[in-house]
Amino acid sequence: MGGRSGEARRCYHPGRMRYRVSMPEPHSHLFAVELEVDRPGPAPVLAMPVWTPGSYLVREFARHLEGMEADDGAGRRLPVERLDKHRFRVDAGGAEKVQVRWRVYANELTVRTAQLDGRHGYFNGANLFLFVEGRLAEPAELEVVPPPGWHVTTALEGGPTRFQARDYDELADSPVEVGTHAVERFDALGKPHDVALVGRGFLDVPRFVADLRRIVEHLGGLMGGLPYDRYLFIVHLTDKRRGGLEHERSTTLHVARDAFFPREAWEETLALAAHEFFHLWNVKRLKPAALVPYDYAREQYTRLLWWFEGVTSYYDRLALVRAGAGDAGRYLEHLGKEWTSLERQPGARKMSLEEASLTAWVKYYRPDENTPNSAVSYYQKGELVAWSLDLALRRAGRSLDELLRLLYARFTTGGVPEDGVERTAAELLGGPAARDFFDRYVRGTEPLAPDLDVIGLAARRRAAQALDDKGGTPPRKSGDDPAAGWLGAEMAAGPKLLVKSVREGSPAWRAGLYAEDEVVAESGFRVDRGGLWDRMRQVGAGGLLRLTVFRRDELVEVEVKLDAAPEDTVWLEPVAAPSEAQRAAFEAWSGAPLPGR
Ligand SMILES: [Zn+2]
Repeated sequence: MGGRSGEARRCYHPGRMRYRVSMPEPHSHLFAVELEVDRPGPAPVLAMPVWTPGSYLVREFARHLEGMEADDGAGRRLPVERLDKHRFRVDAGGAEKVQVRWRVYANELTVRTAQLDGRHGYFNGANLFLFVEGRLAEPAELEVVPPPGWHVTTALEGGPTRFQARDYDELADSPVEVGTHAVERFDALGKPHDVALVGRGFLDVPRFVADLRRIVEHLGGLMGGLPYDRYLFIVHLTDKRRGGLEHERSTTLHVARDAFFPREAWEETLALAAHEFFHLWNVKRLKPAALVPYDYAREQYTRLLWWFEGVTSYYDRLALVRAGAGDAGRYLEHLGKEWTSLERQPGARKMSLEEASLTAWVKYYRPDENTPNSAVSYYQKGELVAWSLDLALRRAGRSLDELLRLLYARFTTGGVPEDGVERTAAELLGGPAARDFFDRYVRGTEPLAPDLDVIGLAARRRAAQALDDKGGTPPRKSGDDPAAGWLGAEMAAGPKLLVKSVREGSPAWRAGLYAEDEVVAESGFRVDRGGLWDRMRQVGAGGLLRLTVFRRDELVEVEVKLDAAPEDTVWLEPVAAPSEAQRAAFEAWSGAPLPGR
């Protein structure tokens, strides 16, 4: 790979794309990137990806690119013409090779982007690396030149600073961490796993590593072994949780520094790790045919994201319980909460899972205050539909585990066709039953009706019992006071009473309360969260709230006549007298005994 002093290279592999990344001034947030291309032809076109696999939004990584220039490796400058927003043509003028140099401004710390500062460097290849059009399949070499005292961690073969990728896909799929981070190693099912810990936080590392091992061993067992030589977890401890991104042999997780206590937070963090890890099968090796091969220049459409994200969301929590790293009761509470959230979204009656999958590029990654009224999440509903499908399969003596393994055995080459999940489900469930299920819950928008009885559970409903009641738990005793009247506005977390969204058709909607209104008073008196809830209980259904809100810094009065509260809060409990078959089915499903009532 190129550089101004080509003869200094120690190992030179002609025929490979040779990339070199250096960071001469980390505080500038600028990565310096070079690419050396053999046999460039007369006018090679180099392109920057517009998106990175796993995150279905056009992010236009070219917007951070600057200082593009090229030469022939012997000091002769070659003209570079910009063709459009993300492509460049080099006039190679008969040269045997071209060296291209550019810089990338990197100051966005997310799992799918790149960041460089005085503390560390992190990048996903799609953010940094132009590719040569028509030559994505060629092997690539990566040299990373870290500042003094920093080291390099990535899942790519090689090291400590020179790495090989079988093609551009693998290069783009292998995030790189550069810095002074610690790396912990553990073995599971005979394979080494590294955990790169970046940043500071309240993490009990030995306990984290022990729970990760449990999850890896469980999921490896479920899927019939670990299909890699080594796996890497890159864990960024930062100010807040920003999720994770999956790769074939690694993942990056962004976790809040304090996301390890209490137990609920710990399980949430483990579930994120299990989620991204499970993707190594479901979406990386088993992927939608529509994404084979990846097209880095534009959106790729599939109706199957609900399977790849919903089923992965289903297994992330379930895996914790099955692996003995999570509590079954808390898992049921989680399912109740997700169900409650879905019940409260009018969008769930308008948008199907297939449509949510197809519109991810413009909807899912761009949520706004109207999202609950107009759309549904293929993660959240996908998880609940995966669970429903699992229960339907268990009623038929099969399971989602079995369906997943069948898909994995059949479609790792070429990808899952758009009708592949349903066709394979039909083999286990019977054609008419599968079609009915997909018509209702995947193509359609019918309310969920999972066959809970098969595992000895029942769903119960009640009205919300607080402004922030997210469901999943049985009712608290509320004394002799009447039930609260229904407002229909969701408040944002935080000290202010800030309206996050207004449910379509609710009293707040009819009265003209808007998202982003800040409620400051009721009946002329200052009000906080507890105070507002008390007034909703005091006036009850049919009663009137006189709200004063700041709307874009202007005081506005809004009178809302409350309705009777809908029973949209769901929780799960074991049936009164579970049979032996139900107990056995619950245990076969979750790996834990059916909790008592
Ligand atoms: Zn995912």
